[in-house]
Amino acid sequence: MNVATIESVTIKRMCDKCKGFSERFKIKGAREYLDLVRQLEELVAASTFWIVQGTCPLNEVFKVQKWADDVIIHTFECSHCGQRFKLAVDTYHGAGGTWEMINKAEPISSEIH
Ligand SMILES: [Zn+2]
Repeated sequence: MNVATIESVTIKRMCDKCKGFSERFKIKGAREYLDLVRQLEELVAASTFWIVQGTCPLNEVFKVQKWADDVIIHTFECSHCGQRFKLAVDTYHGAGGTWEMINKAEPISSEIH
């Protein structure tokens, strides 16, 4: 199995709606994380992205004074092309996190449908 081939196929499948999110980047702190969540909420409200799974409801991250979980993870799917993305933030170790594209070949456990 050639990993490079799988990746190039995944990128080719991406549509105009989500290709701007294809780059993996680090989230440096809670403020950056909440800014991103705000953008994602708008995309979910516009039905551009679905939430596939999450450790808590997306809007709950704004309500808590103290983080409920040590690690908050949300998985999104582009409603146009099916590309998936993962947003993960480690609140316990200084609220750093990552945004990344999920390779189609990577299985996701306990999906909500
Ligand atoms: Zn897409």
